[in-house]
Amino acid sequence: MTKYIFVTGGVTSSLGKGIIAASLAKLLQARGFKVTIQKFDPYINIDPGTLNPYEHGECYVTEDGAETDLDLGHYERFLNVPTSQANNVTTGRIYKHVIEKEREGAYLGKTVQVIPHITDEIKRRMQLLGQGGEYDIIITELGGTVGDIESLPFIEAVRQLRWELGNNDSLVIHLTLVPYLAAAGELKTKPTQHSVKTLLEYGVQPDILVCRTEHKLTQEIRKKLALFCNVNINAVVESIDAPTIYDVPLLMLKEQLDKTVLTKLKLSTKNEPNLDNWKTFLGRLKNPTTEVNIGLVGKYVELPDAYKSIVEGFIHAGSANETKVKVSFIAAESISPENVADKLKGLDGVLVAPGFGERGLEGKLNTIKYVRENKIPFFGICLGMQCAVIEFGRNVLGLNGANSFEMDENTPHPVINLMEEQKNITNMGGTMRLGAYDCDIKKGTKAFAIYGKTKISERHRHRYEFNNAYLKDYEKAGMIASGFNPETGLVEIVELKDHPFFVAGQFHPELKSTVANPHPLFVSFVAASLANKKVVAK
Ligand code: GLN
Repeated sequence: MTKYIFVTGGVTSSLGKGIIAASLAKLLQARGFKVTIQKFDPYINIDPGTLNPYEHGECYVTEDGAETDLDLGHYERFLNVPTSQANNVTTGRIYKHVIEKEREGAYLGKTVQVIPHITDEIKRRMQLLGQGGEYDIIITELGGTVGDIESLPFIEAVRQLRWELGNNDSLVIHLTLVPYLAAAGELKTKPTQHSVKTLLEYGVQPDILVCRTEHKLTQEIRKKLALFCNVNINAVVESIDAPTIYDVPLLMLKEQLDKTVLTKLKLSTKNEPNLDNWKTFLGRLKNPTTEVNIGLVGKYVELPDAYKSIVEGFIHAGSANETKVKVSFIAAESISPENVADKLKGLDGVLVAPGFGERGLEGKLNTIKYVRENKIPFFGICLGMQCAVIEFGRNVLGLNGANSFEMDENTPHPVINLMEEQKNITNMGGTMRLGAYDCDIKKGTKAFAIYGKTKISERHRHRYEFNNAYLKDYEKAGMIASGFNPETGLVEIVELKDHPFFVAGQFHPELKSTVANPHPLFVSFVAASLANKKVVAK
């Protein structure tokens, strides 16, 4: 019998429901339970694939090619278990399904309504992952804040499901804010009381309160929260600001969140959580022996969430190298041939980020020319790889006006071209080359040295590709293709022969980096940047 945990949020957004859900899941997993997490988002887009990163941060892509919320990245990084399309559902997806069924005649003769048709579909989706008997516990995070109009059908679905499942098989965790008023010198419980009241109006009594706070919760505050919100005192859990998100599972362990959950769900376990590997990771992260400066050149740098998985990939690789990785965000548009040396000063390695559209392209090309010529370690991801190809075409092969077809449809040298299967696509949502694809790596290349094997699989999200008509010329001049998709022959990795580290992939390695498995490309790039730093220091 699968048990269900629902995580709601109150008072404000951005309290970190995803991190709390992932931390609890980690603790339960470390006790031997099979756990997964899913996210239900109340917006009308079918998925976040069509959202600008400024709106919603990074779009995280799963193995099966779903474009999802960035919280799924946290789930995978914490649990080291892949998620799928079923782990992220939006209002848009729910309505689309119900409306399509209505057109098919599935509800013939009936008025189709939010209750029961929409709520039934939400409940069906909430239980979908539980049907295979694969999981002991499913944690469902509800996006948005309690009280939002658009969240209402989801809360109602939770109310109904709790009634159907019973108290021993489900519980609700409400994440809330306990603000500190400096003028009064006090923590305030009223916002939490109000948000719990709102939940109660909808018929949902939370079982556990997780309280985000900048100061420790006193016993008195805990008692007050418990009394006024109708929960046990041990169900008031402090979530104090942590130095890193990776500290949160240990903080939740200290607050015994996992124990409280297991008691409420009537699950017994003899195992204490085994967090040895997690603690080793954290120990290395917190006690670096060296430091390395990486520049991230991109288009959405004002919003670091746009590059969430890349930033986390560097944290994992930093721990693996026992190095503090300092990532500086540099706006691609600001980099000109005149100021590039200055902009990249002090950096030991440079990453050119993924992206869409023309803005910042020239700045990325200026960056790549500089790091190529000055032998500074370079790592390109997706558009970053495409830029490396364009730069090499223009400046080494002398292909004037070389470009990606995305940026210039009239380029005389489309060294990056629209993929064949993309040519007749007119819809924008969910139509890129998405998800996991195999890649064969050539022996004797840097990519082979990094991965240590010839068969890999990486996740994709793009429409354009290396134009193989130019491959021979590139390889003759020193830029080689070291990874290919075996079915289509698409180039997946390019690298430079006579450079300490110049490697770029058409895929997104950051999506597969986890605490348990830091991604080899990130680990090697950080190591190469560190070696570059040592050379400079001499
Ligand atoms: N815009 C490029 C493409 O669609 C690269 C996409 C990306 O960087 N994710 O091919």
